[in-house]
Amino acid sequence: MLPGKSVRDEGDKPVKDHAANQAYDNAGITLDFYLKVFGRHSIDNRSMRVESAVHFGKNFGNAMWTGDRMVYGDGDQNVSGFTAALDIIAHELTHGVTQHMIAGGLGVVRVAPKDREFKEQTHALQGQSGALNESFSDVFGSMVKQWHAGQDVTQANWLLGEHMLAPQHGRAIRSLKDPGNRQLTWYEDEQFKNMDQYVDGADVHDGSGIPNHAFYLAARKIGGYSWEKAGPIWYEAFAKLKPKASFQDAARATTDVASQRFGVKSKECKAVMSAWQAVKVIT
Ligand SMILES: [Zn+2]
Repeated sequence: MLPGKSVRDEGDKPVKDHAANQAYDNAGITLDFYLKVFGRHSIDNRSMRVESAVHFGKNFGNAMWTGDRMVYGDGDQNVSGFTAALDIIAHELTHGVTQHMIAGGLGVVRVAPKDREFKEQTHALQGQSGALNESFSDVFGSMVKQWHAGQDVTQANWLLGEHMLAPQHGRAIRSLKDPGNRQLTWYEDEQFKNMDQYVDGADVHDGSGIPNHAFYLAARKIGGYSWEKAGPIWYEAFAKLKPKASFQDAARATTDVASQRFGVKSKECKAVMSAWQAVKVIT
């Protein structure tokens, strides 16, 4: 039952529960990233208290943001290690950032009680706006991982959720570099890489491949560290999106921010524009 019993509060020493320590440490790194790189104070930018629940459910093979807190299962024989994965924790925490950044949320819909897989599943993501929400979490999950490792855009492998799948299933959950490439990820990866593959009503975790890849292409072309230029462009632009924003809206917003920050003829602005062209969101 959520929220569960508190085992480690802010500032407390490590406890016996390994998963609790991992969730604490990785949320700490992510909050530190948001503060140092973007000057953001916690999830809501008003220093809210951050809670993580571990050992959720029984062999629950997933992680989630519930609207109030991050929740991690222990996993099963197919997938596990959610609390050990910094990028997964940064992904979930970023869903909270998005919720507080965009009034009304981004692509968030209520789930009717009869359609819930489990009681706590009150909201879900839908459509292109939901895929943008997912993508923003992937992009920032990847960026936090790169920041923590001190990797530039060429050193990063752009994989999310490594070392979590049983070896026979694959080696990572997603690739921003090559969405849907099952050699790099896992045997049922169905992420789209461009609009030719997009179908209306697709799972937001598949649709997110398109904006994910746009970010990767823009960051690669700009060069250096992803959190220095491409990251701030995405951060500022996504905050301006409306709850039902489309991929085209995101393309327009990021291009606008890049041109305001660096000039319309700048390498940065051209990189952002050509990235959205490459994924066929704009022509
Ligand atoms: Zn997510």
